[in-house]
Amino acid sequence: MRTDRTFTMLKPDSVEKGHIGAILEKINAAGFRIVALKETQMTTADAEAFYAVHNERPFFGELVEYMTRGPIVAAILEKDNAVDDFRTLIGATNPADAAEGTIRKLYAASIGENAVHGSDSDENAAIEGAFHFSGREMF
Ligand code: UDP
Ligand code: MG
Repeated sequence: MRTDRTFTMLKPDSVEKGHIGAILEKINAAGFRIVALKETQMTTADAEAFYAVHNERPFFGELVEYMTRGPIVAAILEKDNAVDDFRTLIGATNPADAAEGTIRKLYAASIGENAVHGSDSDENAAIEGAFHFSGREMF
């Protein structure tokens, strides 16, 4: 199936370091249209639910701590092939492995604090977008 939308979060480290504008600029420059956008903060219950697929992993506790420690910027993005193209734009999970010029190469500190989230499938993009936004917030 062709995909048109993905979901992203600029994670707490990106907000703390003042990288919101620079990262949104890269997203725009890569041809994504912003369908929905807001600054918000996840509760512990939010983060545990959002990352439930990882709840058996050794890093789960740290991940929940990290994702709840300050505000994030959540967004739904639209573009042909959005899910795959956005994963390419952000780069590998570990910034040490991320390609030059990718958002994680530029702005991520470590595999844990890696600046941005990007959905990994059409199905998860829809679930994650709906987790953060109501229909009235999507344009
Ligand atoms: N993560 C971590 N340690 C790891 C792998 C992942 O702290 O060894 C964190 C990291 O913030 C990552 C998130 O858990 O972005 C979700 O992991 P996933 O494997 O889904 O990576 P992503 O899809 O974000 O590239
Ligand atoms: Mg993932």
